[in-house]
Amino acid sequence: MSETGERGGVPAVELYDTTLRDGAQQADLSYTIEDRLRILHKLDQVGFPYVEGGWPGANPRDTEFFELATRETLKTTTLTAFGMTRRAGERPDDSQVLRHLLDAGTEVVCLVGKSWDLHVTEALRTDLAEGVAMVRESVEFLRAQGRRVFFDAEHFFDGFRSDPGFAMAVLAAAEEAGAERLVLCDTNGGMLPFDIGRVVGEVKAQASVPLGIHVHNDAGCAVANSLVAVDAGVKQVQGTINGYGERTGNADLIPLSADLVLKMDATDALPEGAVEHLTELAHFVAEIANLAPDSRQPYSGRYAFTHKAGLHTSGVARVSRAYEHVPPETVGNRRGVVASDYGGGATIRMKATELGIELDDAAIPTVVEQIKQRESRGYAFDVAEASLELLMRRAAGWSQPFFAIESYRVHVEERVGDDEQPLAEATVKVRTNGTRHIESAEGQGPVDALDTALRKALANDYPALDQMALEDFRVRVLSGAHGTAAVVRVLIDLTNGEREWTTVGVSENIIEASWEALVDGYAFGLLHPRSLEA
Ligand SMILES: [Zn+2]
Repeated sequence: MSETGERGGVPAVELYDTTLRDGAQQADLSYTIEDRLRILHKLDQVGFPYVEGGWPGANPRDTEFFELATRETLKTTTLTAFGMTRRAGERPDDSQVLRHLLDAGTEVVCLVGKSWDLHVTEALRTDLAEGVAMVRESVEFLRAQGRRVFFDAEHFFDGFRSDPGFAMAVLAAAEEAGAERLVLCDTNGGMLPFDIGRVVGEVKAQASVPLGIHVHNDAGCAVANSLVAVDAGVKQVQGTINGYGERTGNADLIPLSADLVLKMDATDALPEGAVEHLTELAHFVAEIANLAPDSRQPYSGRYAFTHKAGLHTSGVARVSRAYEHVPPETVGNRRGVVASDYGGGATIRMKATELGIELDDAAIPTVVEQIKQRESRGYAFDVAEASLELLMRRAAGWSQPFFAIESYRVHVEERVGDDEQPLAEATVKVRTNGTRHIESAEGQGPVDALDTALRKALANDYPALDQMALEDFRVRVLSGAHGTAAVVRVLIDLTNGEREWTTVGVSENIIEASWEALVDGYAFGLLHPRSLEA
């Protein structure tokens, strides 16, 4: 492996986060300025050396962000601003874009320029010599103003395939003009690891400043492509937290940095101990982005270290390293076990140990029996682990101390001749710590109305509810066996920004099933308050 493992002062691999700029290109994502500042501070806390804050001048929000962000104190992160070269035929002095970049006031600027001949001749409608000059003069201009410059060679891999002479001339111009990094971009995201490894090797032989890699995930290879690039000698790795980005996203810095530190010996890519915060970081950014965390995200996903029962789970209990590529604690995650069928006492005992529930041997047959009965009625405890935990706690003699439901009702008003959705109205009567609350609420549907009313009833005693959000609600009709009526299974996902949990309710009546899952969901959330300060 070239260059990784280098010690002293400068890390061999340098992480560059663009969650706030390229990540914000994701279709369903938008950050407020406040959100961006929180993400910036979090990345600084974890120890990312470079964070790209946005494109000053591209919109007023980005400009305002830099005004605020450059006044913040950061301990490990250098904030960078992103922008494009001067236009064809323009003097750098007259370039609005370069002016905005300078005005952002960052020490480092990431300048993007075209390195695919097709883009120069077809999109910019100018000649290749001017394409090279745009890059050279823009870098020179920023250097003369005292900025450190990283050069992003846009569409580099497509450009290198189409006209390697031009693509290399662009890099040479940036280097001669004083760029510190030549970042090779797979902007269309279509490259495979073999292409990346070969091209990086060829460029590396000709460039004398460190290279960088910036890839998108359109061929499903963004993380792999970044790792191959590092192996071929690239120093800077650009990506986004959770792989956020346009289309299929960018290289996901969560698995990428874990792979680099834990598996490629790039131990100084992040400060010591930082990988233990990757799970927390992934959830933190998802929460701010208001997107559901990816349960199957490598390393940090809720199921990343969850094993399904059978032979395998008893093995995990004995020798976890035989079934896990790294211990979950390494990245701040937890091991879990789920069973498709909690029919056996051994599985229940193991699950209780995992959850820290003391189940005496006498209680185990009761739990097994209860689970069996409920599963035959349609409960899915392999998915709804929070409900399983509550059931086990109850079997061990526990009852939830937070609230007691007295009654609830909901009615739905069909509005005749109106396009709008039917309006639901719910009333709940709940006792908390000796106080009786009667709360009503309207909602888009019965579950929404019940949820809002229940939250209102609990809000006073439990401010932690503010951090809990209903993330998903899934309904499935299970056909009745042997002439019995069909039943409805409702699964509810809740999150507190730190972890997600799922509860289940089953009934012939959808509202009853939803209510059961909802009540368990909040009881579980109150039982496991979050530890992290947002
Ligand atoms: Zn990009």
